[in-house]
Amino acid sequence: MDLQELETYFRSLDRSFFVESDMKKYATLDEPLPIGYGQTISQPSLVLEMTRLLSPEKDSKVLEIGTGSGFQTAILAKMSGKVYTVERIDKLMEKAKKRLETLNFTNVYYKVGDGSMGWKEYAPYDRIMVTAAARVLPVELVNQLANGGRMVIPIGPPDLQELKLITKTENGVIQSKTMGMVRFVELKGQYGWTKE
Ligand code: SAM
Repeated sequence: MDLQELETYFRSLDRSFFVESDMKKYATLDEPLPIGYGQTISQPSLVLEMTRLLSPEKDSKVLEIGTGSGFQTAILAKMSGKVYTVERIDKLMEKAKKRLETLNFTNVYYKVGDGSMGWKEYAPYDRIMVTAAARVLPVELVNQLANGGRMVIPIGPPDLQELKLITKTENGVIQSKTMGMVRFVELKGQYGWTKE
């Protein structure tokens, strides 16, 4: 991944475009902000850090779980080949899709559903980014990760999680490293903290 390109694009992206009017005045803060439906747009410095860890290449096929506002999606779409993004709240997905289309991204594919089960139809993925806190490492996501691939996923209870970097070697061996502590909203669904 070209780190310079990532940082330049990250700095050029106006976060106020991704939040509702009452939150726009806070968009430059390095803080998560509410986006409705009990969800948040993540802290910008964490988005940057997680993208660095994921390290997508220009031809990577990326699966993103938790589209939210579409802010992280835009960065992934800029830095990789194709992005398959899954969000469980249809109203959030509708707004995110509109924003990403306004930004002229044509390499993003959208699905409303339980992303903890991945998106089997288009697997395997070179990179998987999860932006909500999982209860355990979802076996479906591990199975949908390509050999030589990388996954970034917060795992742990709703108040504090370990940020995990999962790698799959060319021979299919799974390795897991804890890269720090983070606080994300909970992943729901099969591998989340609540089913609904
Ligand atoms: N990356 C997003 C952004 O840049 O705005 C922020 C994501 S927000 C912290 C987490 C998102 O994950 C929420 O929009 C939430 O609805 C979604 N989510 C939670 N559980 C999910 C699931 N099982 N499948 C898909 N999306 C899920």
